[in-house]
Amino acid sequence: MDKQNIVIAIDGYSSCGKSTVAKALAKCLNYVYIDSGAMYRAVTLYFIQNDVNYTQTDQVEQALENIHIEIISEDGTNNYLLNGKDVTAEIREMKVSELVSEISTIRAVRESMVSQQRRMSADKNIVMDGRDIGTAVFPDADVKIFMTADLNVRAERRLKELQNAGAVISIEEVIKNLTHRDHQDTTRQESPLTKAKDAIMLDTSSMNEQEQLDFVVNETKKATKSSC
Ligand code: C5P
Repeated sequence: MDKQNIVIAIDGYSSCGKSTVAKALAKCLNYVYIDSGAMYRAVTLYFIQNDVNYTQTDQVEQALENIHIEIISEDGTNNYLLNGKDVTAEIREMKVSELVSEISTIRAVRESMVSQQRRMSADKNIVMDGRDIGTAVFPDADVKIFMTADLNVRAERRLKELQNAGAVISIEEVIKNLTHRDHQDTTRQESPLTKAKDAIMLDTSSMNEQEQLDFVVNETKKATKSSC
């Protein structure tokens, strides 16, 4: 890895505030923000739209060759293109959330995403969030944060996001989805979600967004001397 550029890895459970803090940190440092979860979501959407039988290795490999993901950053927000089509909103829908952790267990999918993530980050200062960024994608990252929060707090946050996007869904369904994804993410064979030994723990259960940002800015400053 080219150590000229700075890499900040933010990993953790679903809906504990990773993308909000990662985005805010990237904005204040003027780094590029990459949401690796959005990439797994885009692959999952492609599999759904194209009836890919993901238990068949040849179908998965063929599909991965046909998937082109682009991240367009504009005014501090990212838009995600799947084969040229903007899928930013669609990849957040429940149909994708229900399948994405299953698809993320597939080795060929992970290998393809990890190599794209490393390529996207070449020669740039980046903040990337996900599940395996500090352990598998960038084990030499300059700063590693591992985020967690109480399940009920996470579910409330996720429910609000989904409702703001127009979804009709109950808190019970959200809790069920988060619990299922936690289980899949922590127990899978390929790069399971786990705290890197040198990652700094951040429990956001009772922290607001500003407090979370202050925490990561401070850790970044200590490790890299970069400051907002
Ligand atoms: O971050 P987000 O919740 O959008 O990620 C969706 C799913 O993608 C996660 O539940 C996880 O299964 C998978 N994922 C992953 N590795 C990453 C990022 C996300 O397996 N680096």
